[in-house]
Amino acid sequence: MKMSPLRFLKLLYYRLTGDTHCAACNFSGKQKSKKVLWTDLVTEWELDQQWEDWFNLREGTYCVNCKCCARTHQLSLAILQVLNQKFGTNFSNLDLAFKDKRVQELKIAEINSLGNIHPFLAQSPNLWYSEFLSTNPAIRSENLESLSYEDDFFDFVLTSETLEHVPDIDKAFSEIYRIVKPGGKHIFTTPVVWDRPTTRVRAFMENGNVVNILPPSYHGSKTKNQSDYLVFYEFGKDLVARCEKARFKVDLLKDKENASLVTFITTKQ
Ligand SMILES: [Zn+2]
Repeated sequence: MKMSPLRFLKLLYYRLTGDTHCAACNFSGKQKSKKVLWTDLVTEWELDQQWEDWFNLREGTYCVNCKCCARTHQLSLAILQVLNQKFGTNFSNLDLAFKDKRVQELKIAEINSLGNIHPFLAQSPNLWYSEFLSTNPAIRSENLESLSYEDDFFDFVLTSETLEHVPDIDKAFSEIYRIVKPGGKHIFTTPVVWDRPTTRVRAFMENGNVVNILPPSYHGSKTKNQSDYLVFYEFGKDLVARCEKARFKVDLLKDKENASLVTFITTKQ
């Protein structure tokens, strides 16, 4: 695609004023930052200032070239780490890795879009991309509580900021476990307040209806009318034990400075 002169100048400016490398698109330059959490969400979640700042950096710091944020950037690093271990390669970015024949032979389920890094994954002919309640005929619909895939099928399953919206998280883990090959991985992000020992349940399902224990809280929108994004769980660090109970071995990729930036790399044993 041809780049407009304005975009060229913008990227040149950021390239000359910083040197942060993007593990998704391979751009190096200054990143941009914006505040993304809104007051109601912070209040419902009961985040203190430190955790609000960390989550704002997690979601609001981004690469000016591909627009991936700090969270999806770390998810890219986790995917690269797993690929490099598997193949003994030294891929520095997803764009390059997903052009490689060996990577393209892996069966990968992207259960919901990984946002701005989706186009890099979509270079592979063996990517099974789906969305929950998709109405687009070109995109399959998958529900984490009852996946349509066969047993032991995928090398990797990827989910991004989804598990907190699934009513029965244990069912979701058991379904993911079922469709991953032995030794295969579920690589994911979900918001966790790591200094909270236990997960808080905000809502659950009963006879097909949502029962709210706490006032409804939503992600992804300030307008509070998108029920798809209702938060069922506010995870604490016991999420790790929950993955282990589902028989996954858990490794965590952590950021040195931002405690909210953690990617789960879990392996079917
Ligand atoms: Zn980028």
